[in-house]
Amino acid sequence: MIVFTSDIDWAPEEVIADTLNLFEVYGVKCTFFSTHHSLELTKSNKKLFEIGIHPNFNPILNGSSDKRPDDILDEIMDIHPEAQGIRSHSMLQSTNLLQLFAERKLLYDANHFMPYHTDIKPFRLWNGMIRIPYNWEDDVHWAYGYSFDSSGIELDPDKLIVFDFHPIHVFLNTENKYRYNEAKKFYQDPKTLLNYRNKEVVGTRDLLISLLTFCKQNKNETFKMTDVAIDFTRNNP
Ligand SMILES: [Zn+2]
Repeated sequence: MIVFTSDIDWAPEEVIADTLNLFEVYGVKCTFFSTHHSLELTKSNKKLFEIGIHPNFNPILNGSSDKRPDDILDEIMDIHPEAQGIRSHSMLQSTNLLQLFAERKLLYDANHFMPYHTDIKPFRLWNGMIRIPYNWEDDVHWAYGYSFDSSGIELDPDKLIVFDFHPIHVFLNTENKYRYNEAKKFYQDPKTLLNYRNKEVVGTRDLLISLLTFCKQNKNETFKMTDVAIDFTRNNP
């Protein structure tokens, strides 16, 4: 099963619309993990797109917020009451947090990252949730110093492959942290961000487009994260 996911990380509407549009053009499914209310996401084509939640618990860790994890979860669940899945910002999770996720009847957790592993499989957690690992993320790809000529994972539909693309890096065609650090100052200003788009070497956007092209040309079916969780439940009742 080939699966695309995207953590929207407070991107402005134009940046989210840009990523949605790429998936729409190629007819490829994607699960968006949402940080905030986005009209673009809300009105998007639900045949192709699923919305999960992407809460940020980091302010609790660094002491900049006195909110409780419950409050943070409920704020984003109020915006997306239909959400079935969760990936925390920075992948933050713990046994306590997983308990709170299960209490909100979330079906799956997507916080387990296994970069470039080609044998990832979903498994059931003690609280009944399905954990779906993922094996590719754009900003980790450049953290390893890898080129965006290739994802480093063969697109084999018989295996589970779960990509994670951030709309900001698709928009910037990011290839390294230096570009992102420069552009970051204008995070909420899409016009200025365009001036920072990488046109020199292959980047995140180019790689995403080549993966989408591959899926379309080979008629590879793509799946939402909920499809993966339901498929697992069917085979492991
Ligand atoms: Zn994030």
